[in-house]
Amino acid sequence: MRLATEPDRLLTTEEIADEYGISRHHLLKIVRELVEAGVIVTQRGGGGGMRLARAADEIRLGEVVRHLEGRHALVECFRADGGDCNLNPGCRLKSHLKRAEEAFLADLDRSTLADCVGRQARKPSRTAKRPRSTKVTENS
Ligand code: SF4
Repeated sequence: MRLATEPDRLLTTEEIADEYGISRHHLLKIVRELVEAGVIVTQRGGGGGMRLARAADEIRLGEVVRHLEGRHALVECFRADGGDCNLNPGCRLKSHLKRAEEAFLADLDRSTLADCVGRQARKPSRTAKRPRSTKVTENS
C-alpha cells in the first residue's frame, strides 16, 4: 500500500520499516516473496529500492494473498502432501472449509490494491524508469 502512494519512486526497506515501526528483517522476507510473486520489483545499489511491478489497480488482492499465504494450509488435509489426519478421507468438514476458502479468495479477487489505498494511489508516470534487477539485498 505504501508503494502505491509513490509509484514512481524507489523506496527502501529501511525507509518503510522506519515509517511503520516494523522489523526490517521481517520486511525483507515479505519483499522477497512479493518479488517472487511479481508484485514488486527491486533495484540494487545506491539509489536503489523497490516499487510496484504494475499499477495498483492491476494488482488483485487475491493474487497477493494466494502467494503469501499459499503455503499455510487452512487445515492439515489441505497441505500439498494431503497431511495425515485420521478423519480424512471421510471427513464432511473439509468440503465446507474448501468452499469457504475459495469464497474468501474469490472475494479478494474482486478488489485491487488501489481499492485499499483510495485517493492516495497514483498511476506510475509513463516516463518512470523501470528497475531491471529483481534481486533483494540488505540495501534494498
Ligand atoms: S478434520 Fe477434516 S477438515 Fe480437518 S484436517 Fe481432518 S480431514 Fe481435514
